[in-house]
Amino acid sequence: MLIDTHAHLNDKSFDADRKEVVARAAALGVAKIVEIACAPAEWAPGEAFAAAYPDAVRCAFGVHPEYIKDLPPAYLAELETYLQKSCAAAVGEIGLDYWWEPKRKEEQLELLAGQLPLCAKFSKPAVFHARNGKEPAQNAYGDLLIILKHKWTHSPARKFRGVLHCFSGAWADAKAGMDLGLALGVNGTFTYKNNHDLRDTIKKAGLDNLVLETDCPYLPPQSARGKRNDPAFIPEIAAMVASHLGLSNSQTADKTTTNAFELFGVF
Ligand SMILES: [Zn+2]
Repeated sequence: MLIDTHAHLNDKSFDADRKEVVARAAALGVAKIVEIACAPAEWAPGEAFAAAYPDAVRCAFGVHPEYIKDLPPAYLAELETYLQKSCAAAVGEIGLDYWWEPKRKEEQLELLAGQLPLCAKFSKPAVFHARNGKEPAQNAYGDLLIILKHKWTHSPARKFRGVLHCFSGAWADAKAGMDLGLALGVNGTFTYKNNHDLRDTIKKAGLDNLVLETDCPYLPPQSARGKRNDPAFIPEIAAMVASHLGLSNSQTADKTTTNAFELFGVF
């Protein structure tokens, strides 16, 4: 069994064939999906999507830094109600984006600080988004990891406290994240021709610290670049990870699935 730990299947690009997409992934062994509802307008659709697939889909609820501009005043109270739903698997995706929103750093830090306590309050792991800016000083990973080290109190019984989704940092970031109990999310970017450094970092981190994800509809693997991504690409990503780490496909599938359960709990 494989798990897509990060999907945006409520994206409008799936409106015409969402059901078929889930069925096709399931037929390929991708039996569980974590849907990421990361803006207030996505929370109700996320809950409805999970309700349609009670055995297969769980939901992360949170506010991505990209949605900082149009937040309703009572968003935190509303987010708390969603984190109490039975489908809620995580707080996320939350974090810092200095690529798209470099000018809103202070607001982003505030948005993150407001959501971090919800992990401990509702016993949920966190799905973190970090993207560095164009300048070396715009170090989203560095800022995020320092904040987590000093301000994040969530301490679950399970192995992982959260995940650095779509990991794109350097080895030092991976190491700091793993020291904080974070898994690394590996997706189609692992397969991109020029991402040698990322592949080396992921290999060094080792299978024990990895979970698989698509981040669909974005970031399809190399074979499908320019097309819509979907959870059916998880086996291809798994095979690329297995081959680069010198492991079997089944070993990679089993361990990343165990890791996903360690991260999100049973579902
Ligand atoms: Zn995402």
